[in-house]
Amino acid sequence: MVEIVQKNNPVLRQKATEVNVSELTSPRIRQVLADMKKALASQEDGVALAAPQIGIPLRIFIVAGFALAEELQESKDRPDDLVFINPVITKLSKDKAELEEGCLSVRNFYGKTLRSTKAIVRAYNEKGKIFQRGGSGLLAQIFQHETDHLDGILFIDHAKDVREADTIK
Ligand code: ZN
Repeated sequence: MVEIVQKNNPVLRQKATEVNVSELTSPRIRQVLADMKKALASQEDGVALAAPQIGIPLRIFIVAGFALAEELQESKDRPDDLVFINPVITKLSKDKAELEEGCLSVRNFYGKTLRSTKAIVRAYNEKGKIFQRGGSGLLAQIFQHETDHLDGILFIDHAKDVREADTIK
């Protein structure tokens, strides 16, 4: 099993390093992606995962296929996870909303974060191709949460009303 590191692990506070463009489709990165997918699939409530969360300080995150399906209002079951290597947010809406947020590395804690309601990310995919993806709602929130991970930021750094799951009515 691939372990998901928890909030006191220093790897979560590091600024993650970009993947060298010549390495995008290398066996090493393919292994990292396979491990990330395995770790995410092991979490029932997981919608996305950043590489530092499995102890690897590289600028990569993945988004679960079902989160995308929800966003696209598709009925297709379990589409593939979407891979973002060296992601950069190229656009954030001025319009923001306070949203409920949690994190697989801050187990059982939830809080309210202020996030742009729309975001666009540019990244490389697992085939080494550059692409752009826009999202609103949950997907926009994921883009912001995951790029924060790559800069060593956790949602509890800026969330309001942080509380343990047990205390939710
Ligand atoms: Zn997280």
